[in-house]
Amino acid sequence: AVVLGVESSCDETGFGIVSEGRLLGQGLASSAAQHAEFGGVVPEIAARAHLDAAAPTLRLALADAGVELGDITHVAATSGPGLATAVHVGLAAAKSIAWALDVPLYGVHHLAGHAAADTLAHGPLPEESIILIVSGGHTSILHVRDLVRDPIEHLGDTLDDAAGEAFDKVARLLGLGYPGGPAISRAALEGDPTAFSFPRAMLRPGDAPYTFSFSGLKTAVARTVESLERAGEPVPVADIAASFEQAVVDVLVTKSLRAVQAKCLSTLVIVGGVAANARLRAVAQERCDAAGVELRIPPMSLCTDNGAMIAAVGDLLVRSGAGPSSLGFAADPSAVLHGAQLPLPEGF
Ligand code: ATP
Ligand code: MG
Ligand code: FE
Repeated sequence: AVVLGVESSCDETGFGIVSEGRLLGQGLASSAAQHAEFGGVVPEIAARAHLDAAAPTLRLALADAGVELGDITHVAATSGPGLATAVHVGLAAAKSIAWALDVPLYGVHHLAGHAAADTLAHGPLPEESIILIVSGGHTSILHVRDLVRDPIEHLGDTLDDAAGEAFDKVARLLGLGYPGGPAISRAALEGDPTAFSFPRAMLRPGDAPYTFSFSGLKTAVARTVESLERAGEPVPVADIAASFEQAVVDVLVTKSLRAVQAKCLSTLVIVGGVAANARLRAVAQERCDAAGVELRIPPMSLCTDNGAMIAAVGDLLVRSGAGPSSLGFAADPSAVLHGAQLPLPEGF
């Protein structure tokens, strides 16, 4: 099988081509620069950008993989969750391609894509693992068996903001612009992560063990900035960024390692845009080493949205013998992650 993956859930237009677990090539375009002046993704602008970028980006992916469009045997596309207007463009493109080539189409859950990204770098997932998904819209600790065959168990999610959302909001607060994660990371390089002791929410005994909350942290940063400004003191952006980052990372790593140990597992997988964060990668590695836990994190370029990760899910679905989705299915912009395929097959 030669599987074409299509991603358009947010501001990245991605096409990737995967065969038997191997990434053959990909193309990626981003409209991030067009959203910068608004401080966040504008759905209508994202949709138009996908429409502009689709054909050229597909061409890039085919050239990168060294295959012809006619070599594609299956198509997989993000069908949710994401911005409705954005998902619709990629899904429509995927349906058109599948129909024109007369090949099967698989609707894919975007977050399963984030998880599958790791298989492109590190091979098949173990029989059972804990996956921490940390992205712009989600923060969840998942207990995963076979990513495409088995139901996915949510051990905990966030009560309010996602970790990536917290990065984006704090970046705006500090005047660092959009997208916030990379901007905070850059600023934090020069900062002291112990300069401010920001709250680590939900870590007290009695708190839900795998549940997150990041809105209090964002408020604490806002209060710190306000009181410094009111006092006429300079705002130490680097120290605040580093201390904020440390607080987020601390909670993420503590809770996911706790899940690995509670389930007597030996592998932690961290995926999603925030997994590109250098401090998260370093702290997770250190604590996993100390705990004798194997840590898997995709290379940075596969952490943020891309088409390769969607192709990876499609390839896994094909190889697991899953039946294709019909060409008539609708996008599911607010889909919860229960299984990798969307819509969920009957009886799943
Ligand atoms: P979702 O996957 O939940 O639908 P999304 O697709 O918008 O949301 P991703 O592309 O997975 O999210 O990740 C984008 C998020 O990752 C943004 O919030 C961004 O700030 C954050 N991010 C990207 N790079 C870094 C980094 N180096 N450090 C911290 N956060 C980062
Ligand atoms: Mg993005
Ligand atoms: Fe994403």
